[in-house]
Amino acid sequence: MSLRHWAPQRKFFAQLVRFDRDLAAQVGASTGCPRCGSKLHRADYPRKPLGGGEFFSGLVRRVSFCCSQRECRRRCTPPSFVFADRKWYVLAVVVLAAALGPSAQEHVTGQLVLAGTTLALRTVRRWQAFFRQSYPRSAAFAWLRARLSPPPAAAKFPLALLGHVRRSGCGSPDQSIAQTINLLVLAGLGSRIEKFEGRITIRRD
Ligand SMILES: [Zn+2]
Repeated sequence: MSLRHWAPQRKFFAQLVRFDRDLAAQVGASTGCPRCGSKLHRADYPRKPLGGGEFFSGLVRRVSFCCSQRECRRRCTPPSFVFADRKWYVLAVVVLAAALGPSAQEHVTGQLVLAGTTLALRTVRRWQAFFRQSYPRSAAFAWLRARLSPPPAAAKFPLALLGHVRRSGCGSPDQSIAQTINLLVLAGLGSRIEKFEGRITIRRD
């Protein structure tokens, strides 16, 4: 099955939800508040992501933390395998649509069907602009470029990342997309976590 005709099944999202839960356990156990270094408490918030088909029929919770110090209370939200920051669609749909969406400037209206989801082309273009213009300026992108050979080109992101994953032998669409998401999450974490007085802390963006 090609990526263009990939329709994610329930078990695909169930796996991503599990990854989020595992990551939350690690972050909660090993990191401190980015502002004051105090212990972090879980403070998840409800969100209803679009594009997950039947899997996300109700509200689900985005893993998040809050500083335990009452005077500080800084919120700290680690990267997610499920959610795309500040976007309503699940990360898998955002990444795939940005990678495979039309690259020409014409046809700005209309729709695109990918990952079993109907998307407005206008929305896809916004995601493409994010990945090709804003994301390459981030610490996460620098983290990826330093570790992948050849480094992914900003102008072809995230298709370049997906291509890297496929060349390195990830076979099925499920595996390729999950591994691409995994690299994005690792980059988000790797570029933001640093040692903080002997402990690990998530740095402010
Ligand atoms: Zn704090």
